[in-house]
Amino acid sequence: MTTGSDLLGRYAGAMVQVFGTPQLVLASGQGCWVTDVDGRRYLDLLSGIAVNALGHGHPALVQAVAKQAESAIHVSNFFTSEPAIALAERILAISAAPAGSGVFFANSGTEATEAAIKLSRRTGRTRIVALEGSFHGRTTGALALTHKAAYREPFEPLIPEVVFVPPNDADALQAAVDDTTAALFVEPIQGEAGVRELTADYLRLARRLTTAHGALLVVDEIQTGIGRTGDWFAHQASGIVPDAMTLAKGLGGGVPVGALVTFGPEATALLTAGQHGTTFGGNPLACAAGLAVLDTIERDRLLEHVRRVGALLDGVHVAGVAGTRGRGLLRAVELDGIPSSAVMAAAREAGFIVNAVTPTALRLAPPLVISEEELQGFLDALPAILDAARTAAGAAS
Ligand SMILES: *Cc1c(COP(=O)(O)O)cnc(C)c1O
Repeated sequence: MTTGSDLLGRYAGAMVQVFGTPQLVLASGQGCWVTDVDGRRYLDLLSGIAVNALGHGHPALVQAVAKQAESAIHVSNFFTSEPAIALAERILAISAAPAGSGVFFANSGTEATEAAIKLSRRTGRTRIVALEGSFHGRTTGALALTHKAAYREPFEPLIPEVVFVPPNDADALQAAVDDTTAALFVEPIQGEAGVRELTADYLRLARRLTTAHGALLVVDEIQTGIGRTGDWFAHQASGIVPDAMTLAKGLGGGVPVGALVTFGPEATALLTAGQHGTTFGGNPLACAAGLAVLDTIERDRLLEHVRRVGALLDGVHVAGVAGTRGRGLLRAVELDGIPSSAVMAAAREAGFIVNAVTPTALRLAPPLVISEEELQGFLDALPAILDAARTAAGAAS
């Protein structure tokens, strides 16, 4: 039988090594559980980085994809299909987008960011303001707005005129946004920075400043959208309406699909025929998957469910945990003196998949369908996981 270590040996000989050595070779999943090729089961508290919103093997998603694959997987953008139109309409409805809004479908988050950058160029301006700690993607346009130097610097020069300001700093934002600003890009909760929230006041200030200076406010909901925080979109809790929003991750429940949403006729009219495109974007297979995800969230009242189950993570009072951050089912557990990599490894040993999002914090982003019992199972196991991690980290140092 082929083992995980056999496969990782082959991985090392066949793949570009940008991801280092993967932790596991996964074979299958059911609900919130995944199984590796050696037959070990894990509770999936990461869901493919906030992607598998309905967990694994959800019948609504499986049936929608299977049925759509039988009729049409791809039609090109010389043509369109009902799933694409229906998904765009549904996204606009849950976005509370005004009349004249629109959707452009891409295949990933970074492509949605690229579309938003091109949209911003159509204001006639080129300066972009982004936040320290931001993550907007890895393609060269999106990378210019991604703050982490280690991601950006090996590929410079990137597109110019991007300035970074510290999040939740009103004065810095006020100083940075002016009449030359094309767009301000924000994540309502910075996932990759360790689940760090922008305050509602800061988002409202961002809205006021961009409106006053004729700049676009672009909200990156690639990680926070599609019910992850207990609202359809995280920015909705602050009451703001952006000019544009980017989506991906949870939208297809695991099938790759991204989207740029433009709010209102002015933003929507910025990109005209021939100015942008994609071969695969808006294909009926991905759009059927997106419709199944949105239908299921609505039918099974998953927004309420996310708020209720997520509340288990409001306060985690365990020795070794300094505190928690985030909303709904996008959370960080800040550790007190134990390296997150050691805790991630100990959790994996104990049968739980979590993510060491920063050296001192774990990220939890389980499927939206996780039950209270499943999440409580992790919390019950956490003290022993932290003990094991403390011992392992002590032995290693
Ligand atoms: C994941 C992510 C992206 C990039 O999405 P990809 O599909 O990996 O290209 C951009 N922005 C945010 C906030 C993300 O979490």
